[in-house]
Amino acid sequence: MIDVVIIGGGPAGLLAARRLAEAGCDVIVLEEHRHIGRPTHCTGIVSAEMTKLVKIPADIILSRLQHARLVGPDREACDITWAADGEEILTIDRAAFDETLAAQAVAAGAILRLGAFVDGLASTAKAVTVRVGRESIVAHACLLACGASYRFQRQLGLGLPGRLLHTAQIEVDAEPTERVELHVGRHVAPEGFIWMVPVLRDGRPRLKVGLVAKRDAAKYLRHFTERPEIARQLRETPPTPTTRLLPLKLTATSYAARVVVAGDAGGFTKPTTGGGIYYSLLTAALAADVLIDALHAGRLDAQFLSVYETRWQERLGHELRVGDWFRDLLVKLPDRDVGTLIRALATDDVQSMIQQTARFNWHRDLILSLLRQRGIASLLFRSLFR
Ligand SMILES: Cc1cc2nc3c(=O)[nH]c(=O)nc-3n(C[C@H](O)[C@H](O)[C@H](O)COP(=O)(O)OP(=O)(O)OC[C@H]3O[C@@H](n4cnc5c(N)ncnc54)[C@H](O)[C@@H]3O)c2cc1C
Repeated sequence: MIDVVIIGGGPAGLLAARRLAEAGCDVIVLEEHRHIGRPTHCTGIVSAEMTKLVKIPADIILSRLQHARLVGPDREACDITWAADGEEILTIDRAAFDETLAAQAVAAGAILRLGAFVDGLASTAKAVTVRVGRESIVAHACLLACGASYRFQRQLGLGLPGRLLHTAQIEVDAEPTERVELHVGRHVAPEGFIWMVPVLRDGRPRLKVGLVAKRDAAKYLRHFTERPEIARQLRETPPTPTTRLLPLKLTATSYAARVVVAGDAGGFTKPTTGGGIYYSLLTAALAADVLIDALHAGRLDAQFLSVYETRWQERLGHELRVGDWFRDLLVKLPDRDVGTLIRALATDDVQSMIQQTARFNWHRDLILSLLRQRGIASLLFRSLFR
């Protein structure tokens, strides 16, 4: 019997595999696709803080971002420029990043099986059995790192993410720019936003244009790219977008007997933006540590594994609760108030507060500081009564 079977070869599954293998555990990663990192759904924006968990090879960096423009429903705009000595924000090639993680996991001794779609999971008092076609793989424990697919979580009674939105994204040749644009508004992307992120691929300037919304992501994206001022920036006809679900809230529970859940599979993304690479890696590292202890102690019962939930709550709990509460306020704002908010963000006072408190992976301080600005607070608190 092997020690840990991991379902899903994304960042969460691959980092956990490496850590478990480095600790001497027998570990196998089962990934449904034939190529790691493909198809790529993700934009790949991360901050340099990620290097605390994994190195970012220089050759997978597609752009370094320093300027952003937030555009409102009536084209109100607010520009934000990060201080040159501030936090470094990068766009990475997600497929190449995942390949790097896979190579590290395999070098550490993990087995990686591609084209291995897990279509069954059974957990008993003695073992976990996963099924890949006609084959059964028996392990002491299972890490669910299967991204935004929730069949096994439902089966095990772990629940679904409290919020699931729809995404669509394209990448096209485009006019060169250094600025990220974010567009918001109920008619632009209901309950979400649109992003335009510049990258340089093989020397060619390109744009990743994507959208997260409550519904009809591909339709809203098409409407956006058909706007004359947007179409002018694109140097090729937009292809059919990649679409995918994005969790923006946790599942009810992140562990069961012999099972722990990391990354998107547990709904670990930032409630504000849906960014999840860093939280996937962080929860994977915590999950691997708990599984290593559990295997050593011979304790794979739910009570022992509950320490995983305690540990991620310590790191992320407050952050996720504040972010989620803030999102609830934002989505209730009528477009008129969104425009007012964007104009408020553009004022000097708020700009300097943003510079002091904004951090890419941690939004709580920025949110709490915004709520200390009287005009912004009264605008947002009106949402409580909508
Ligand atoms: C459009 C879009 C843009 C995004 N942009 C950003 C961004 O810029 N920055 C950021 O931080 N985050 C971003 N995210 C979020 C980020 O992509 C995820 O948080 C991250 O990929 C989660 O990693 P993961 O390992 O948990 O899951 P995934 O990367 O989804 O990996 C899960 C893997 O499991 C496999 N799998 C699923 N079911 C099975 C099965 N039954 N058997 C075998 N294999 C299975 C899947 O094929 C997949 O390869 C974006 C998400 C979307 C949708």
